[in-house]
Amino acid sequence: MWINKDMEKLQPSAVRKILTMPSKRSDVINLGLGQSIYPTPSNIVEAGKKALDDGFTRYAPNAGLAVLREAIAEKVKKENGINATANDVFVTVGAQEALSSLFVLLLNPGDEVIIPEPCYSGYISSIAVARGVPVTVPLRASNDRHLDPKDLERAISPKTRVILFNTPNNPCGTVAHKEELEAIARFAIEHDLFVVTDEIYEKIIFDGRKHISLASLPGMAERTATINGFSKSYCMTGWRVGYFVMQNKLKEHWAKVQQALVSGANTSAQVACVEALTGPQEFVQEYLGKYDETRNILYEGINAITGVSCLKPEGTFYAMVNVSELGADEDVAMHLVENQGVRTIAASNYGPNGEGYLRLCFAVEPEIIKQGIQRIAEGAQELLAAKEK
Ligand code: PMP
Repeated sequence: MWINKDMEKLQPSAVRKILTMPSKRSDVINLGLGQSIYPTPSNIVEAGKKALDDGFTRYAPNAGLAVLREAIAEKVKKENGINATANDVFVTVGAQEALSSLFVLLLNPGDEVIIPEPCYSGYISSIAVARGVPVTVPLRASNDRHLDPKDLERAISPKTRVILFNTPNNPCGTVAHKEELEAIARFAIEHDLFVVTDEIYEKIIFDGRKHISLASLPGMAERTATINGFSKSYCMTGWRVGYFVMQNKLKEHWAKVQQALVSGANTSAQVACVEALTGPQEFVQEYLGKYDETRNILYEGINAITGVSCLKPEGTFYAMVNVSELGADEDVAMHLVENQGVRTIAASNYGPNGEGYLRLCFAVEPEIIKQGIQRIAEGAQELLAAKEK
């Protein structure tokens, strides 16, 4: 076959796989999603439509429209404690392209990237397309899915170039503590590593926790690329706009990679993103309130089911549900789709420490979460009964 051997080995996205699994039921509930069910706020949609009418139908510069880069620089100064100018901001085709373009820019073949796992599956593939090697460290259930800095030391090798960190974390639903971030910063400085930090869920945080950007810690701005985007905070997954902030000489080379990969993000969508950042922000709190409600329903409902449990998510709209008493996570996920008509993601797809868990997305209506929990309870009962036979 005319295929590169490394690309042949790449795994398809677990989310896409679950969407196509057949069910006996016609009224399938989808808790496997990686996005909110809520629409893009209408002022943003209108700004996008107007941009087309106003003639934003041509290429934008590689690094993005100046007006958007300005707005992002203002945002990260105000909200993230990153003292950036528009020249440090790079607009991408979703956060996904920020990841892949950065790894293409950063890695030589065989260079290693340390990543805590379970992790978003896009990390593994974006490192693979750059011919890098992911080296995982565990986010253990026994440590409530937070990083134990001692594990970083075990992962270091002469080939380590980058550490990739994600907070708030998909799929774990955690928000990194300040001590965790300080330990990563110390480790990166000590071993002279570059840091890629994915903060795309920064606005989806519960119980008054605070998001801290790694680049705001002392000595980190010059060795960090901070990735963010519009997909999650503004419910704009389909618009495909993300960005990163980088204050390092590397940035002079990035536009060449961007030109080769995509030549720039959608121009009218970038105008809509200016409205997202500079227009009314009330809906961010409004949507957060909705996620908080379904988070609580999920947490109580799941923990009331025999043989199943979950930690309370600290951020994101995902929960990791322990189903290890019922069977292997892939088998449980298959059983639930086939028989109960509820789609979830087997978390072993996110790394070995996901084994025995399902990732559930609770960015759906309360009624859907309630029905989903009821169906999971039925499935759990069936699977436990089958085990006892
Ligand atoms: N990072 C994480 C942690 C994600 O969960 C996702 C999307 N599910 C992305 C990046 C990519 O987002 P985008 O739509 O901006 O490409």
